[in-house]
Amino acid sequence: MKYSLKIFTILGIPVELHISFLLLMGFIYALAILNLIPGVNLQTALLITLLFVTVVLHELGHSYLAQKYGVRIERIVLLPIGGVSAMEELPKEPGQELRISLAGPMVNFLIAFICYFLLLLLKGSYVGISSFLNYFILINLILGAFNLLPAYPMDGGRVLRALLAERMNYVRATELAAAIGKYLAITMAIVGIFYFKNIFLVLIALFIYIGAEQEYQAIMISNILGGILVENIMSHDVKTVKPDNHVNDVLQTMYQEGHMGYPVMNQDEIVGIVTFDDLSHLKKEDLETSIKKFMTTELIFASPLEPVTSALEKLNQHHIGRLPVKENNRLVGIISRSDIMRALEIMKVKPV
Ligand code: ZN
Repeated sequence: MKYSLKIFTILGIPVELHISFLLLMGFIYALAILNLIPGVNLQTALLITLLFVTVVLHELGHSYLAQKYGVRIERIVLLPIGGVSAMEELPKEPGQELRISLAGPMVNFLIAFICYFLLLLLKGSYVGISSFLNYFILINLILGAFNLLPAYPMDGGRVLRALLAERMNYVRATELAAAIGKYLAITMAIVGIFYFKNIFLVLIALFIYIGAEQEYQAIMISNILGGILVENIMSHDVKTVKPDNHVNDVLQTMYQEGHMGYPVMNQDEIVGIVTFDDLSHLKKEDLETSIKKFMTTELIFASPLEPVTSALEKLNQHHIGRLPVKENNRLVGIISRSDIMRALEIMKVKPV
């Protein structure tokens, strides 16, 4: 993830701190050391640090089990709102998803249990440590229980989806879980504003609402596009330009033909791609120069037999609008985001 710092690797998974998280922790420690706000002392700061250690352990719980089921975990990132495990798509196997989702909260309950055991061992001596342990038990119980709320995409919501998916198809189960998640998020926001007057709860509600919608959309799209290949929807007859073409002329072509991007060909070899965005805001004196100065030369290709969902993933990952399609080192087509969106529209209305 952008703007994050890797701190260590555990179970082969890099754990990163996001810059906003580092700033927040720095801020809390500064408050504690300078004693600016009564009540915020080093013990509070330490407790908050431990809270985030718990969040990492919670995420590791998910990741450990996911890895066992063969899901690759790219990294765990800590944000001020909690932890995120960046993993490949989870297995669409309800039983596995159920266990992976439960693993995180179970870690919290386990930590609470261990701390409770330590507390019993202390038998009331070391008052400082005891009260610290008490706090920590409370935090872990709250964290575990909160994550089990059936608000998709939180853990509890994923558990709910897995349970639903055993009774209906995966898309319908996601749709239902996401709808429940959104209603719960709205309820949480209202309760947060009027009852607890707590902005943090409202932020979490917003996060859940957006997350539910995004994940539902993603699953809809991958379901509708499932089985469709790049060659089914790409444009076969590709208009190309040459590296020595002038900016002015290429812009003219774009206006006339209505395409927003062109592969740049040097003889039979593709050497770049030039888009309306690359050219539209150039200075006047650049208009008479050749496009090779402004084209993108780091190319990402699709292949004709690649699933459209994988091409869409590439577009999203690299924030680009189109992919040249190559077969045996030859340019055979081009697939754009609008091609995919058009296919989606058509597939949605297609009677099944
Ligand atoms: Zn979790």
